[in-house]
Amino acid sequence: MKDKKIEKAEHLGTCFGVERALEITYNALEDNKNIYCYGDLIHNNDVKKELEEKGLVVLNHTSSIKKDKSHKIIFRSHGVGKEIYAQAKEKGMEVIDATCPKVKKIHKIVQDCYNNGYKIILFGNKEHPEIIGIKGWCNNKALIFEDINDFKAYENKVTNTKFCVVFQTTYNLNKFKKIKKYFEKYENIRFHNTICSATFQRQNSCRELAKKFDTMMVIGGKHSSNTRKLYEISKEFCDDTFWIENKSEIPYDYIKSSKNIGITAGASTPLIIIEEVIECLKKIK
Ligand code: SF4
Repeated sequence: MKDKKIEKAEHLGTCFGVERALEITYNALEDNKNIYCYGDLIHNNDVKKELEEKGLVVLNHTSSIKKDKSHKIIFRSHGVGKEIYAQAKEKGMEVIDATCPKVKKIHKIVQDCYNNGYKIILFGNKEHPEIIGIKGWCNNKALIFEDINDFKAYENKVTNTKFCVVFQTTYNLNKFKKIKKYFEKYENIRFHNTICSATFQRQNSCRELAKKFDTMMVIGGKHSSNTRKLYEISKEFCDDTFWIENKSEIPYDYIKSSKNIGITAGASTPLIIIEEVIECLKKIK
């Protein structure tokens, strides 16, 4: 029987910011035990389990931690608000800062603009940790909108005259273009495109692959919003798209009859998990 054609998307898996955060964390765990991480470092259960076994303790607030200078806390790639740095300091904890430099840049923009009297407008998902962290750099005074319609519904309540507009790094590029056009009418505005190219590179490669292949495997954690987005894009062009976390979830019976399989993976899926899936797929006859 002819071998299945298996092809990876040009851009897939962990982005620079997540790779960096993982490296910082693994290095920290080599020398120390019981390091805290503020929120899950990565939305991938296999990696989470491995890190916990090495001593990483995930927490969502610092209140339960006793004051102790030997404690260290990692801030993940999503970043945190200014107040969380202050809480860590108050507890005497050493901060290991794995915030992605691209997110750090947004913190700086927001802080500078806020200190200079600009009203901060954030486009993104209110519940997402990255957005929660960003608004923590303007005293939690940002206005947060999902899209331009959301903003329009609020617009007549806006009394400020100076605006700083920033975007969640994973924001949709098409929605961004509409917002940019709409805001052209405002004069006193600092408009920053803070979208990260890693996101749309992965989305574009996924789309191209899904157009050509009759089966698609999207690999990533079930809580990962960027993996969900890849799944949705893939499903639009390829009915037989499967969202799996790792090789144990491969739909073997279905795959037996697939002739060509495209592979993509979310920004928190390490290469090793992708390679394991591909190795398994190759063996299915
Ligand atoms: S998606 Fe971009 S901004 Fe977010 S962690 Fe990755 S590299 Fe950084």
